[in-house]
Amino acid sequence: MGVADGWVEVGDRVFVRRYAFYDQNIGVILGDGEALVIDTRSTYPQAREIQEDLQELTRFPVTVVVDTHGHFDHAFGNAVFRPATIWGHDRCVTFMERTGEARKPAIARDEPALAADLAEVLIDPPDRTFAESATIAVGGRAVELRYLGRGHTDHDIVISVPGADVLFAGDLVEHGNVPFFGDGYPLDWVATSAAIVPLVSGVIVPGHGDHAGRGFAEGQAVSFERLASLATDVHTGALSLADAIAEHPFPDMPPEHARSGFERALAQLRGELD
Ligand SMILES: [Zn+2]
Repeated sequence: MGVADGWVEVGDRVFVRRYAFYDQNIGVILGDGEALVIDTRSTYPQAREIQEDLQELTRFPVTVVVDTHGHFDHAFGNAVFRPATIWGHDRCVTFMERTGEARKPAIARDEPALAADLAEVLIDPPDRTFAESATIAVGGRAVELRYLGRGHTDHDIVISVPGADVLFAGDLVEHGNVPFFGDGYPLDWVATSAAIVPLVSGVIVPGHGDHAGRGFAEGQAVSFERLASLATDVHTGALSLADAIAEHPFPDMPPEHARSGFERALAQLRGELD
């Protein structure tokens, strides 16, 4: 699947579209007369592009949005989809309220082309939340939301549709040079990524990059276990940070990115992130 492929049906009336910006996946679940959108992208123009692209797929209104987590590229387009109900984890709300405005200047520095569009974004967190799991409905169709533990953030959720064999994993699972560790809990990510594996019966859709199968989820779980093990060795003095970075277990990840993973893991081991 590539960015030019448009909507790809990855399960019964479950679609993914891949956007070139950040190689991001946006999900759509169609029920009877209603549509659910998973993640809303970074800005209002990007969110409106989803709405326009949806015209190729359905005339159903988007009545439900699910934010996999509160990072800007997943949730800054939320307001465009109102009056839809927006679902997310309890702490997605806290995270967006605490960090949303404050992060805009830093994001604009990294992505100058987005600066003007970011300025108009109103931080609009989920209005329906849960702590462990929730079954919601779109057009009479059940959709399951689950929190599996801390990982990429303290509030990532996964989304599945009974009978459709698709799991949307947000940024808990990523293809390419990601995952991003800046808000992550690498030690918890070990158990969280392992908990994802049995939930994958067919396709797993990561937040960014190619969709995959259970083998990929298993591979990521092993990589997180290895990362945590190397970090523990650095913490106890058995290994240098440089050697740990050189041995990091994510095949496409640049060293500086791996460094941030180890730094977060070491901060956890020092008890600084609890
Ligand atoms: Zn993210």
